[in-house]
Amino acid sequence: MLLEKVISIVAVSAALLNGSMDAALPDKNMDGTAFLVNRQHAISKNFVPVTRKVNGPGMSQTMRADAAAALEEMFAAAKEDGINLAIVSGYRSYSKQSSIYGRKKAENGQEAADRVSARPGTSEHQLGLAMDLAKKGSTQLNTAFGKTKEGQWVTANAHRFGFIVRYLEGYEDVTGYMYEPWHVRYVGKDHAEALFESALPMEWYMSDHKLQVYDYLIHQLTNEVLP
Ligand SMILES: [Zn+2]
Repeated sequence: MLLEKVISIVAVSAALLNGSMDAALPDKNMDGTAFLVNRQHAISKNFVPVTRKVNGPGMSQTMRADAAAALEEMFAAAKEDGINLAIVSGYRSYSKQSSIYGRKKAENGQEAADRVSARPGTSEHQLGLAMDLAKKGSTQLNTAFGKTKEGQWVTANAHRFGFIVRYLEGYEDVTGYMYEPWHVRYVGKDHAEALFESALPMEWYMSDHKLQVYDYLIHQLTNEVLP
């Protein structure tokens, strides 16, 4: 009886939160934008997002439609500021990631491969919400991009379009990746603004955010169940 009540309250609370906070229970809501994917939080081998081609200079790549539209908007705004960005790598399937990781591991060993490449299922590129960028005419992905005017523009402006520079300098221990000024991740404008303001990695932001959500759910439960 009590258990049933608890379950129904959780369901109702989750449904209520779903509308206003798409990140409520973020790692279960695959239509949202704020779920955390990293070396500890893997995506199912069977998860295949609906994607479309991203229009812009560079490689022909796909992303989820909301992220693609936001990226096109970002490219247009950059261009107005005299910054010409190019697409390098967007959505990657589980099996593509598997072959990339396998190649790096064969070349340099597992430890080195883990530093620069994600094991299959642990890449944000599989979400269809990540893009690797370069300046127009280049396909180079390296930390020097962060020092170019293109890279600095991305660092300063990506949040306005719902993107974050996901792997920040100095947080390798937290994110599991070295600084990647070229890798942007779509999280939607609200989260991107908040993350940009905090200047903290998504791992920390998400744990705070989750705590707030669970705290809210627990309050709801307590109010309902106790007399
Ligand atoms: Zn990337």
